[in-house]
Amino acid sequence: MQKITNLYDVLIVGAGPAGSNAAISYKKLNPELKVGLIDKSIFPRDKSCGDAIGPGVISALKRFNNEHILENEPQVVSTTLYGPDNIGIQNYIPKVKNKEDSIVYVIPRVDLDNRILSLAKDLDVDVFEGFSFNMFEEDSDKKLIVSIKNNNEEIKLKTKILVGADGANSRVRKQLNIDTNSDWHKAIAIRAYIDSPNYLDIFNERTLMFEINVSADKGYAWAFPSKGNLLNIGIGVPLNIFKKDKLDINKLLDDFVFQLEQRGVIVENIRDEKSYLLPFASSRPKIKKNINVALIGDASSMINPMSGEGIFYGMEAGYLLAKNTYGILDNQNIKKGIDAYEKAFSRRFKKHYLSCALARLLLQSTFMTKRLLKVASNDQDTIDFVVELLFDEAYLTFGEVVKIVYKFLLPSKLLILLSKN
Ligand SMILES: Cc1cc2nc3c(=O)[nH]c(=O)nc-3n(C[C@H](O)[C@H](O)[C@H](O)COP(=O)(O)OP(=O)(O)OC[C@H]3O[C@@H](n4cnc5c(N)ncnc54)[C@H](O)[C@@H]3O)c2cc1C
Repeated sequence: MQKITNLYDVLIVGAGPAGSNAAISYKKLNPELKVGLIDKSIFPRDKSCGDAIGPGVISALKRFNNEHILENEPQVVSTTLYGPDNIGIQNYIPKVKNKEDSIVYVIPRVDLDNRILSLAKDLDVDVFEGFSFNMFEEDSDKKLIVSIKNNNEEIKLKTKILVGADGANSRVRKQLNIDTNSDWHKAIAIRAYIDSPNYLDIFNERTLMFEINVSADKGYAWAFPSKGNLLNIGIGVPLNIFKKDKLDINKLLDDFVFQLEQRGVIVENIRDEKSYLLPFASSRPKIKKNINVALIGDASSMINPMSGEGIFYGMEAGYLLAKNTYGILDNQNIKKGIDAYEKAFSRRFKKHYLSCALARLLLQSTFMTKRLLKVASNDQDTIDFVVELLFDEAYLTFGEVVKIVYKFLLPSKLLILLSKN
């Protein structure tokens, strides 16, 4: 048995946005805390993603004056949605209600995650890069002994609280005996980078392009402009449909590239194709055991089921966990703090997630997608609401449902007339 020399206040597995932001939050709330962050990769490391970050991430960074890591990044100003039959709408990103900034950036994760991790390093967080989490055991005094290893050695660390921020295939979650989401509550998506010298000319501006139910029936594809000519493209479908229809993820990407070319977009140098799973927040796990372990980010299934956005929710979960536990790490009551974090997260996002899950079901129907895009192209309120579901924390109230159903039933000509008045 190895000697355990280090006692941590907080140990976090996974240095993605959720884990790094948890580490930053604990250190900002109490700089005296001894915080450790473990990741199997050595940073900078790539992560399959659309790379789009919106107002939520900006305000999470602003909370601790860290927005400077976004300096010199070009801002995206609009969204363009395409549906079946080539129905398309381009819309400026509306002022979101819950955040200061209505801005979107597209920053490759190889850079973004490294910048957030560097913020944690600057706060004297102990970072174990290249170390895989192996297992944890509970001590007699409720502390946790965590074993991590790289190619050369195995280390055991002791901690008052263990945080699983280790992504969609979380090993911490597995050790808690919590199953991964069922296929119904998961998607599979592939991302690639391309160079496109004319994307901005085709769309006249820096726009996030979404294509619903075209290259993949019941799925959506995206083209997001980053710096210069760099474009992040990809496509995703719910995993149950992917398996049922025996789809091929690379073929779906090829079909989307074909669609892009049909729209006049020049596609050069397709590279770095990488697929991964997205655990949706339509099925969130509960830790029933009385143990001082918490889950955040993809490890806790926090991805928006409509948009596939997950970075913001993971970062906010890291902050809410730190806020609810940083002051009680020497008490017997850490678990109460973990439960309080779960409640605070659910209170804030439950209705939003539910609304997005409903929207996802709606958009799985080609007929409803066409109808929604028709309504939205004639009615600013509807398109603003769709964009707020994508970029803010909007949810459907009873009044909202009645309004949308009414607009769906209204003949298009009448809707255009009413929208003009
Ligand atoms: C194709 C695709 C497109 C997406 N597009 C977007 C988008 O545009 N915008 C958006 O907001 N979200 C998007 N998402 C979702 C987003 O990528 C995730 O929600 C986000 O990465 C979650 O952050 P995280 O910190 O929880 O996990 P991750 O970013 O996955 O980080 C987990 C970390 O844990 C480490 N790890 C894993 N296992 C171990 C272990 N055993 N030991 C030690 N370390 C371990 C990994 O190396 C990794 O660094 C997309 C996802 C996919 C798959």
